[in-house]
Amino acid sequence: MVKGITFNIQKFSLHDGPGIRTTVFFKGCPLKCQWCANPESQLQKIQIICHHEKCLKCQTCLRHCPSQAIFFEDQKIKFNHQKCIGCLQCVDMCPVEALSNEGEIKTVEEIVKICLQDKDFYEESNGGVTISGGEGMAQPKFLEALIQELKKENIHVAIETTGYIEEKLFQKLACQFDLLLFDVKHYDRNKHFEGTGVYNDLILQNLKWATQNQCNILPRIPVIPGFNDSLDDAHGLANLLKEIGLKRVQLLPFHQFGEKKYELLNKDYHYKNKKALHPEDLKAYQDVFIKKDLDCFF
Ligand code: SF4
Ligand code: SF4
Ligand code: SF4
Repeated sequence: MVKGITFNIQKFSLHDGPGIRTTVFFKGCPLKCQWCANPESQLQKIQIICHHEKCLKCQTCLRHCPSQAIFFEDQKIKFNHQKCIGCLQCVDMCPVEALSNEGEIKTVEEIVKICLQDKDFYEESNGGVTISGGEGMAQPKFLEALIQELKKENIHVAIETTGYIEEKLFQKLACQFDLLLFDVKHYDRNKHFEGTGVYNDLILQNLKWATQNQCNILPRIPVIPGFNDSLDDAHGLANLLKEIGLKRVQLLPFHQFGEKKYELLNKDYHYKNKKALHPEDLKAYQDVFIKKDLDCFF
């Protein structure tokens, strides 16, 4: 049985591809975007979270941890995620359910079973299943086994991808999908590195390959304040998409849905208190793409 690590399975998704969809969130991402709305997606292993308002400070969890991954600091239970082996003993031992885990090991069969529960909705709405994350292609065996099982059921399968995957592996996996929702974050390689921790060379190389090989691609730009939200950025991104030969693009305005998760994970958040963007803030930005004959929408 092929297994992998996921952190959420969301039914009735309406924004992750056409129709009604089930979105399966794979855990693990090669990027570290400063604005990431799913910080729990980045590490490809189980992470324990403490809901401090419930904690009695009894330290039972700390005493039972086999890896000394729990410590008590500033009157709070904290975790060393590198040491944690994901055994979940602390979660089971806590008398007040103050601990929970982000991430679960699941088999392909378990995921397919959940996805099939909504097959009628997919058929009625031309929907299907979307792999999100994290980065699905970072767990290639698990991903491929899952696509194969979903395809046996004639289910439309999409992926939201960073495109930051080793070239040969990307070429093997990309065209197995009915739709690639391909993130394009910046045209400038140094700016891309500043915001995400990686350069964009490999991403653009894969995007060009997928375009030349007739994969069905919808490029998506997360529009992030101070990173890529100026009109100069819009021009740079529109020129890049045109040069590659793409004809449409979706804009994803920055939002703050992930803020609370940073607190729970005890992680610094670069975008704390930054104002969210809305389509009405980005009219001139959108026009830049439209004027260059790109079908640009939200
Ligand atoms: S690519 Fe997506 S999941 Fe990965 S760090 Fe960036 S925003 Fe988060
Ligand atoms: S999951 Fe296991 S290893 Fe990780 S902190 Fe809890 S008890 Fe320790
Ligand atoms: S066992 Fe639960 S209540 Fe006790 S210290 Fe750990 S998290 Fe807090």
